[in-house]
Amino acid sequence: MSLENTAVAPSDFIRDIVAKHVADKKYPRIHTRFPPEPNGYLHIGHAKSICLNFGIAHEFGGTCNLRMDDTNPTREEVEYVDSIQKDVNWLVAGWADSNLGLKARGKTPETISSNGKPDFFLGPASKPAALEPFYASDYFDQIYEYAAALINKGKAFVCDLTPEDTDEYRRNAKESPWRNRSVEENLDLFARMKAGEFPDGKRSLRAKIDVASPNIWMRDPLLYRIRHAEHHHTGGKWVIYPMYDFAHCLSDYIEGITHSICTLEFEVHRPLYDWILESLELPRPLPHQYEFARLSLGYTIMSKRKLLQLVQEKIVSGWDDPRMPSISGIRRRGVPAAALRAFAYNIGITKYNGVTDVAVLEHAIREDLNKRALRRLAVLRPIKVVLSNYPEGKTEELDAINNPEDPNAGTRKIPFGRELFIDRDDFMETAPPKFFRLRPGGEVRLKYAYIIKCEEVIKNAAGNIVELRCTADLESKTGGATANRKIKGTIHWVSAAHAVDAEVRLYDRLFTVPEPDAAGDFKSFLNPNSLEVITAKCEPSLKEAKIELRYQFERLGYFAMDKDSQPQKMVFNRTITLRDTWAKEAQKS
Ligand code: ATP
Ligand code: MG
Repeated sequence: MSLENTAVAPSDFIRDIVAKHVADKKYPRIHTRFPPEPNGYLHIGHAKSICLNFGIAHEFGGTCNLRMDDTNPTREEVEYVDSIQKDVNWLVAGWADSNLGLKARGKTPETISSNGKPDFFLGPASKPAALEPFYASDYFDQIYEYAAALINKGKAFVCDLTPEDTDEYRRNAKESPWRNRSVEENLDLFARMKAGEFPDGKRSLRAKIDVASPNIWMRDPLLYRIRHAEHHHTGGKWVIYPMYDFAHCLSDYIEGITHSICTLEFEVHRPLYDWILESLELPRPLPHQYEFARLSLGYTIMSKRKLLQLVQEKIVSGWDDPRMPSISGIRRRGVPAAALRAFAYNIGITKYNGVTDVAVLEHAIREDLNKRALRRLAVLRPIKVVLSNYPEGKTEELDAINNPEDPNAGTRKIPFGRELFIDRDDFMETAPPKFFRLRPGGEVRLKYAYIIKCEEVIKNAAGNIVELRCTADLESKTGGATANRKIKGTIHWVSAAHAVDAEVRLYDRLFTVPEPDAAGDFKSFLNPNSLEVITAKCEPSLKEAKIELRYQFERLGYFAMDKDSQPQKMVFNRTITLRDTWAKEAQKS
């Protein structure tokens, strides 16, 4: 089931809620957001959230904003902002006809449209324009005013406890000695915090809620802290920064978000989310938070901090290493955006945390690539075949089908000659009975070409096979007298005289266990064989390969050209094998 072909959109408890709100006309328009913190690259877990938020906007005629949740200057960088924007654009580009929170250039969040909602979007997008991000840090002035409003209502105070003592007091349900400062003193101190009078950690702004609450997040939580640090977006303008909980609900409110969807660990923050908006007595409608189970995927890790470790310790080549679960890595490996979207739809949305089998992702990728990949012949581990009865110097141009799944993909010519390469795996000197490929004295069909018979195995002094002497049944080609002769096996090949070399990178899972995060050090479960680099022999038409196209090397798997390719040296990534080789391994043991 791919997204593009899905007539019926998925249904789940969040979509049910949204559908009811649409039926009840609770909001003028459904408005969601995807709010990453720019402290790392996005991963496949984020893809689930992106597909949910943009998917709901798409299905219900609403809007979804991409918002940088950038309230922590010390962890965030422009490199991450740029990568996030690129990744989200890539993933949602197929939803051309949906309203993707397209930010009208030149409009600011303060621009309020006639219906009282911020006028962020261009309305129904006729063309897919680039998705521009919003920044929580663009609202710092407003958020500061909201903090002052809470102080005025007697619902926030400036606290002089150290960060350590604040934690300690909250854990022990103990009130801060500074809790009952006057509104005037609080306003004065808060303004002086903003003016940069105090060093980091000297003072903080805290909500005045209930230190005895069973929910620790309600025990007079921090709203603002002092951080003398450059911010990637606001520069040196601020030395106080709002905490996530304070900034998030207000950013949602400011943008007119109706459904603020996040992962389950934020469920305990929801009372605070509501308390802040209620306490400020803001005009309705208010946004509401809904939680769903985050994606955990077998054989991988999903924490940005740990993924960063893999990058910094050069265990992988970068955030976009094709073995990484990052969106950029997955894209570079050759997975189409539509396959990721289909995966996100297939796994569904629930309230129960669990580990999703990688086979579900791999199935979505194979299904998508099967439909779009151009078939090509390539030999990964070549052995030479010489056809002794085929004329020397003769070349035939044989017809080959580009994609049996897509009649519009047409055909191409592939050259055939006396000397060929076949894959080492397709020949066995002493083969078991069910080995339907080539063996001494045995026959096999070469795809699109002749039936050949192995007459002699030539070895070098070391005993390694260097050549297979074969004969061809010259009448067995399509249209020939013996074309319909039944032969059990068909193998792929390339003409030795015409083959082009390519570096091929074969990837396997980065970790050897289903839950590398569950016990001990995740790095002790790294798969030492997650990358193998070989030189393959390819049919000459692959000289025209393009990064944006997808290929199936027949019988071997799906491959995509890598950005490391040079005019004189092609590089391909194996996106995925044709079948699940791990499932086969599991059956054997
Ligand atoms: P960290 O807190 O380590 O920085 P994070 O994974 O929480 O990382 P955010 O940038 O805060 O990253 O996430 C942006 C959005 O993506 C949030 O709404 C979050 O709930 C959602 N999200 C993050 N990880 C997953 C996941 N594994 N599955 C589904 N949604 C996720
Ligand atoms: Mg987070």
